[in-house]
Amino acid sequence: MEVVSAAERRPTRQITVGDVTVGGDSPITVQSMTITKTSDVEGTLQQIYALAAAGADIVRCTCNEIEAAEGLAQIVPRSPVPIIADIHHQYRMAMAAMEAGVDGLRLNPGNIRKPEHIKAVAREAKDRNLPIRIGVNAGSLDPKLYEKYGGATPEAMVESAQTEMQYFDEVGFDLIKISVKASSVPLMVESYRALAEVTDYPLHLGVTEAGPPPAGLIKATAGIATLLMEGIGDTIRYSLTADPVEEAKAGRQLLEALGLRERKNIDLIACPSCGRAEVDVIKVANDAMEAFGEREIPLQVAVMGCVVNGPGEARDADIGIAAGNKRGHLFIKGQNVAVVPESEMVDQLVEWAEFIHEHGTEAALKRADLDKARREAEKDRAKLLEEQGDDANLANEKIVEIRKK
Ligand code: SF4
Repeated sequence: MEVVSAAERRPTRQITVGDVTVGGDSPITVQSMTITKTSDVEGTLQQIYALAAAGADIVRCTCNEIEAAEGLAQIVPRSPVPIIADIHHQYRMAMAAMEAGVDGLRLNPGNIRKPEHIKAVAREAKDRNLPIRIGVNAGSLDPKLYEKYGGATPEAMVESAQTEMQYFDEVGFDLIKISVKASSVPLMVESYRALAEVTDYPLHLGVTEAGPPPAGLIKATAGIATLLMEGIGDTIRYSLTADPVEEAKAGRQLLEALGLRERKNIDLIACPSCGRAEVDVIKVANDAMEAFGEREIPLQVAVMGCVVNGPGEARDADIGIAAGNKRGHLFIKGQNVAVVPESEMVDQLVEWAEFIHEHGTEAALKRADLDKARREAEKDRAKLLEEQGDDANLANEKIVEIRKK
């Protein structure tokens, strides 16, 4: 019997969100969204790291007030994945988010409707080479379209996206991806099919307000999987009424289940490095990748630049290493388990990962002297905080700029 796999993928343009490509022949990516207040920098970063560890390639944060934009200025340099700012109603928030350094924007055409505002945002994004998602939503469609079509129909959704594309076109902006989400699965599926007929921009798939699992999971999977199997879709998001980690996991698992993403070896996540970094994170991450090589250890492994925030930010990873005070701090599920000389940290990381793979996390935690590791970690953390202060990323300067706008 012939195995039926997904239809050939619809050819789309490729855009770049931070260091992640979307569209063209790039792997289909998973997105999720934080549910913290974006002004709560530490809480939001912890959630971003948890989402990245669960399989999110890109994370969106709301930018609904100036404090959120200020939070983004501090979050973006410390995020392990590209950050997109979600903008509703106030185009000025889009400007502030770009000033904060985000990797992309999502605009809802249903509630930012003034052409001059939309074009101003697109011009700024063009200058900064940042992509924008046109995020049409059946529930917040422009009332004029609602009236014209007698409701949120696939035609109305597509026209909303096309009107926005037209504004972008007028200022020469084309770093676009589009979504036409609805909470009704048939409406969502028909809308994306119609959209795929009229544009080759990459598409972001989702069933909006799918609700809590298991019904929400089923609805989202029904809509997203149907389209993916037809070759439609370049990036996906589950919108669940649940911990967003569940969204990221579901997205990842769906792609693996459809044979669109694969995970056999370690999944290495690394912080992007920032003013706090105690080592060359890129080098250590590359050394770790090389040391793990082709070993079939399907664990999430984190390489973090500092011991001040690293173990907390990457606490969902199976194992990780953070640098501090010329030492390597090994942690398992966020708990410090050993402190080793910096020169040995990659080897130790591999050794502990092999141990976990063979014997499990519990056995690895039992093997460790947790009290000693915690004491040593605290000592290095305190020393670094004393040396660097608590604004090692100079985020306060960016905040001053945002407030001036
Ligand atoms: S160096 Fe530390 S604070 Fe900076 S991104 Fe890495 S882990 Fe986070």
